[in-house]
Amino acid sequence: MNPAQTAITTPQPQPIFLKNYLPPAFLVQQVHLNFLLDSTQTRVISRLELERNPASTQANLPLELDGQNLKIINLQLNGQCLTEADYQLTEQQLILPQVPDSFVLEIEVEIDPLNNTALEGLYQSSGNFCTQCEAEGFRRITFYPDRPDILSKFTTRIEADKSRFPVLLSNGNLIAQGDLDNGKHFAEWQDPFPKPAYLFALVAGNLHAVKDSFTTCSGRQVALELWVEEQNLHKCEHALRSLKAAMQWDEENYGREYDLDIYMIVAVDDFNMGAMENKGLNVFNSACVLAEPKSETDAAFNRVESVVAHEYFHNWSGNRVTCRDWFQLSLKEGFTVLRDQQFSADMNSAAVERIQQVSMLRTAQFAEDAGPTAHPVRPESYIEINNFYTLTIYEKGAEVVRMLSELLGKETFRKGADLYFARFDGQAVTVDDFVACMAEVSGLDLSQFMLWYSQAGTPEVAASGVYNPTEKTYTLTLKQRTPATPGQPVKQPLLIPIKMGLVGAAGVNIPMEVNGEFWSTERVVQLKEAEQSFTFHHLEAEPVPSLLRGFSAPVKLSFDYSREQLAFLMTNDSDGFNRWDAGQRLALLAIQSLVAQQQAGETLELDPALTSAYEKLLKAPVSDPAILAEMLLLPSEAYLAEQYEQVDIDAIHQASEFARTSLAKALYAEFLRLYQDHHSSADWSPEASAVAARRLKNVCLTWLVATEKPEALQLAEQQFKQANNMTDQLAALTCLAHAKDASVGKEALEAFVKQWSQDALVMDSWFSVQASRPYPDALDKVKTLQAHSAFSMKNPNKVRALISAFVNQNRVNFHAKDASGYQFLADKVIELNQLNPQIASRLVIPLTRFKRMDKVRQNLMKIELERIKQEKLSADLFEVIEKALQ
Ligand code: ZN
Repeated sequence: MNPAQTAITTPQPQPIFLKNYLPPAFLVQQVHLNFLLDSTQTRVISRLELERNPASTQANLPLELDGQNLKIINLQLNGQCLTEADYQLTEQQLILPQVPDSFVLEIEVEIDPLNNTALEGLYQSSGNFCTQCEAEGFRRITFYPDRPDILSKFTTRIEADKSRFPVLLSNGNLIAQGDLDNGKHFAEWQDPFPKPAYLFALVAGNLHAVKDSFTTCSGRQVALELWVEEQNLHKCEHALRSLKAAMQWDEENYGREYDLDIYMIVAVDDFNMGAMENKGLNVFNSACVLAEPKSETDAAFNRVESVVAHEYFHNWSGNRVTCRDWFQLSLKEGFTVLRDQQFSADMNSAAVERIQQVSMLRTAQFAEDAGPTAHPVRPESYIEINNFYTLTIYEKGAEVVRMLSELLGKETFRKGADLYFARFDGQAVTVDDFVACMAEVSGLDLSQFMLWYSQAGTPEVAASGVYNPTEKTYTLTLKQRTPATPGQPVKQPLLIPIKMGLVGAAGVNIPMEVNGEFWSTERVVQLKEAEQSFTFHHLEAEPVPSLLRGFSAPVKLSFDYSREQLAFLMTNDSDGFNRWDAGQRLALLAIQSLVAQQQAGETLELDPALTSAYEKLLKAPVSDPAILAEMLLLPSEAYLAEQYEQVDIDAIHQASEFARTSLAKALYAEFLRLYQDHHSSADWSPEASAVAARRLKNVCLTWLVATEKPEALQLAEQQFKQANNMTDQLAALTCLAHAKDASVGKEALEAFVKQWSQDALVMDSWFSVQASRPYPDALDKVKTLQAHSAFSMKNPNKVRALISAFVNQNRVNFHAKDASGYQFLADKVIELNQLNPQIASRLVIPLTRFKRMDKVRQNLMKIELERIKQEKLSADLFEVIEKALQ
């Protein structure tokens, strides 16, 4: 009974449609679970108190319980044993055609956690038991109506061997525990809050806790416990600090107080996603909770802070108020991502946080929106819900809620959130319910706004301006269109909030006057039509428009800026985000002209405007090192690729490399001085200023080694050897390992693995550095590394560290013209299809994005997709491959 094997379903899995939603036929008042834990033969005995749903639209429906890979041991209805004549059993369900209106059902099943490599339901990680039930994992534990609109009160009894599993945890409060015969013990947990099955959790193992406490705004003491394996006890402090900060932040900013007396987090090494918000018992991928300066980078610290906050915020946006069905996934995820973004902005540099979010959104999410799996923030159908935990649901979903907060204003938005939590507490609701609260408190008509939830694709806004010197007017014209996406050929105009200002020659925002209306110096313009014009009056000279400030909408905005205007905005825009974006636009122009030169076979020549803009940045007094570090980064090759209908992978790579080395050579002295100014041998500090200095310094180091000068490489070597923290050590290692001559990094890579072979998380970085090495020798290295003792195809972090890193962070070599990268990926996807369908289906995505490639690559990619299609596919892969080849 291998769960991963039976995850492979019939050849044609069927889609489920939002429009077919029906309220449940039965409700579960109470559920008692009893687990007799065993690696290969766990018994789960459940007792469900069921009754017909008065709100059900049809009478006398059969009881349908979901269940997968479960071996039935015993079934009893109101104490009477059921025989096979009393029920029907399919691959997916247990159906009882004749049941009373109210009854007790007792179900005993057997499951096999040890061989559960899909990591859904109950499984083992490092020998410990843990569960993952979102979205539909509970049905792999027992038969149950596994849908988020059935909320029930859970009690859980766990019985296990005491010496191997001394710690037994579940949701809610511990109500009983004790020793049993045969070296066993038990614990019983009760969760007073009704919840859907996807929020159930159980953990049992040899774990150790770091404990703390938090006093809520109403004075209640909450016990905080972070459970980890013993060797990780020194990596807990940062997560606990982040948790307390998040608890306080949610009280102050959303009026949300924690509701149980205990909040537990467990770190596990084998986890498909980042973390899971189970009620009172979060389960985390260890990569998103453990952090200690010697072994984790500043970026990892930042990730821990935001994921801990994210899962905590779900206690209200997701748990107390949950989703009616999985089409509403962004109701909890989009809103919770926005909340964690707001938190991170308050804890760190707000501008840098925004820059990093937007960079991710407009490379990765825009690419998703332009590919074969594009879907709206609220999808209309799916085959496998696990395929919809996407950047569109999470990140674009967050942007949509952010736009609501921009449109309503901060205070009114807060009123809307308060109303939402008050009105729907304890319920499973929809995106419409959420937006209706926002409409109610603001009086706004948000009907056009709802298109953001139903239309897929990234809207394009083309802006243009005409200055009339005699009239002293400036007319700004905005046009919008959204390209067709699969299944949505025609799009309607959206309501797009465009925050803008007009910057005058002196570098200040000019007060805006439009047809007698006074707008002050900044304004959120509402673009509602396909095309709209605004004429500004009383302008003595042509202003420079600063559009989409703070990235006020998830769109592609174009404006025909001159290089001078961009250089001007880079220093003068009052909006920090747009100063950065002006620099990105300038770099984009320069690299795009290099791409054109490369394609025309000309000698490459870098636009001097970019060099002088960089020189100006480097020579100016450093007011904000964190922002400067971001401004010194060139747009990624992935972002460059996004700018083209036809992507020339090689030309983009050549052009980027040329820009990088030219700038590095031209400005070597400036980069060196900045490096030295921000390099310190002082003790590591978590202060924002120290983080910013490390970031700036390491960005400079990367520029320096781009020249391949021996003295630059020596500097990297020195930093590698002397580093007292992982941020500096890994940055230096990357510089060395990515030097053109592969032998340069050899020694450091060996020293690193020797130092860190016992630390699984650090080993992930060691794999990734090698997989992302931008030279053709990378693939062979990746293949060799698969045999390394620290690598395992069964561990998602390792697959991401080695295989995903090659596929996603090594674009030129993944897209090698000999198809070696494509063939390798297809082989891995086929292997993972058996082991872990969720990971397989995420991994294959880059292979499905062939539409914008040249004909040769398109064919090579399709050949590999066809090869995968020959396999007996899981529903997850079936859906993605099917959409790609349509
Ligand atoms: Zn979430």
